[in-house]
Amino acid sequence: MTFFVPSHKAPSAPVASNVMPMTTSASVPTASEGAISGDTVTDRLVAANGRYAAAFTDPGMDARPVLRVAVVACMDARLDLHAALGLDLGDCHTIRNAGGVVTDDVIRSLTISQRKLGTRSVVLIHHTGCGLEALTEDFRTELEVEVGQRPAWAVESFRDVDQDVRQSMQRVRTNPFLLHTDDVRGFVFDVKTGLLREVDGA
Ligand SMILES: [Zn+2]
Repeated sequence: MTFFVPSHKAPSAPVASNVMPMTTSASVPTASEGAISGDTVTDRLVAANGRYAAAFTDPGMDARPVLRVAVVACMDARLDLHAALGLDLGDCHTIRNAGGVVTDDVIRSLTISQRKLGTRSVVLIHHTGCGLEALTEDFRTELEVEVGQRPAWAVESFRDVDQDVRQSMQRVRTNPFLLHTDDVRGFVFDVKTGLLREVDGA
């Protein structure tokens, strides 16, 4: 995820209402499109789903991931996990949050993934230019000052992405609820090149 970083993309040029811009299928409508159609972003997503469902055929899978792997990654919009890792529908569990940090809730998902849905391997993916590098735990104090309540959760900000990947690997490997902790590997995804770099977990 990225905070405080202005988009490098110029605003989309206006397009005819029946022509999709050459970006993703649910790209943000331009001001002129919004004014004409009244569509929200969510409306566009729902419309895209209608097209998806029209072409969809039930692959007949059960819920257990084919590759028996769970991927824990940052929610960053520049990280397309399925494309970047060559994953197909049904291959893996995908668990994402701000930073790809191994929190208690990620452990909850991994525990269910391993014990109820048969996964064995864990892949952790952080990335370059993560928004959590721009934050500190002071963010919790800022929130407390603003809303009068201190969040119970840690921000999980970090300065050294490699060290944070190591910490995440360690949290998985030492967790008592997980059945399989022998195949846990961590990586940093470079948002400029699309390449993964493995982090030595030692
Ligand atoms: Zn991130």
